[in-house]
Order: sequence, then structure tokens, then C-alpha cells
Amino acid sequence: MQELVLATHNDGKITELKEQLAPLGITVLTHHDVDLPEVAETGQTFIENATLKAEAIAAHTGKPALADDSGLCVDALNGEPGVDTANYGGYEKLLTKLKDTAFGARGARFVCVLALAEPNAKTQFFDGYVDGFILNEARGEGGFGYDPVFLPTGGTHSFAEDPEQKKTLSHRSRAIAKLVEALK
Ligand code: IMP
Repeated sequence: MQELVLATHNDGKITELKEQLAPLGITVLTHHDVDLPEVAETGQTFIENATLKAEAIAAHTGKPALADDSGLCVDALNGEPGVDTANYGGYEKLLTKLKDTAFGARGARFVCVLALAEPNAKTQFFDGYVDGFILNEARGEGGFGYDPVFLPTGGTHSFAEDPEQKKTLSHRSRAIAKLVEALK
């Protein structure tokens, strides 16, 4: 594989994917390089949505495409927002919802499913997750999305306060590591 198109318009994801795919030594293209349509996320699961995005972009470009479908599953909300995280309303809404929930009951999991679609080949999947807690308030300026309110289990800094820690532990890093291993 010489080229890989990232099937996302989320620049936070793009930064992390590009950096961690570097060991593969392939050209990584994004919506900044090629015109990519928005793909409707009509699936019920991370795998379904990752597949929809990767296969649509592979068909559109004629090149291998990698999609990331990810989200935050919060225990006290019965796993929500989950696959709907992108449309949930941000961490401010989450903090309001959990304002009366004690720290010990604020468990959460970030999930990432990567789908790699290549023209004329079976789509491959790589997943990763990280467990942690939702903080009482936003902390840190780094990362994107829900990073300021996510404290990984055993950690003392949010993902937004410590991007190096995020690189080691995150759902996306773990999924990318599996993909890099498979493609090496
Ligand atoms: P989707 O994969 O396009 O459905 O969007 C997933 C949403 O989950 C993103 O828009 C973010 O709000 C959130 N999310 C996924 N991964 C991360 C992460 O690494 N940090 C913070 N928020 C994330």
C-alpha cells in the first residue's frame, strides 16, 4: 500500500492518526488534499459506521481508505452517548447531566473502531478502548472533543492536560497500534 486516505473531516482525529501511522512510511491523504464527501453515519454500531465511512471513501477515491468511528460510553448514562457522541452536545452537556453523580460512579470508556477498506478487498477492522472517569470539570487545553473531562484509570491528568499520556493509552492509539502491526 502506497497511499491511504483518511475518511474523516475531524482534524483532531487526523492529527493523531497521521502521527501514529508514520511508522508505515506511506502517503496519508486527508480532506485537505482530496475532495471527500461527508458520509452519513446511519449505522447502530461503531463497526457499522466505520464500515460505511471507509467503504464510501474507498469507492469515491479508488484508493485504500481508513475510517475511525469512536465515542464515549458513560456508565451512569447506560453507555450513552456511545455511537452518537459526535451529536451529543459536547462535554458541557455531559458535565451538567452528571452534576449529581459521585466520582466513583462516573466511570466511562472511550471506544475506537478503525475500518480499512481497499477496493476489491474485504474490509478489515482494528479496535481499541480505554477506561476512566468523567471529571467534575474540564481540565487542560490539548486534544479535542471530550479530552478535557476524561481521566484515564490510574492517571492524574486528563487527556487534554497530558497529550503524551493520551498517545500511550488512548482507544485510538491502541487501535492504530493493531493496524500498524497488521500492515507492517
Ligand atoms: P464520530 O466517530 O465521527 O462518530 O465522532 C466521535 C466523537 O466522539 C467525536 O466527535 C468526539 O466528540 C468524540 N471522541 C472520539 N474520540 C475522541 C478522543 O480521542 N477524544 C475526545 N473526544 C473523542
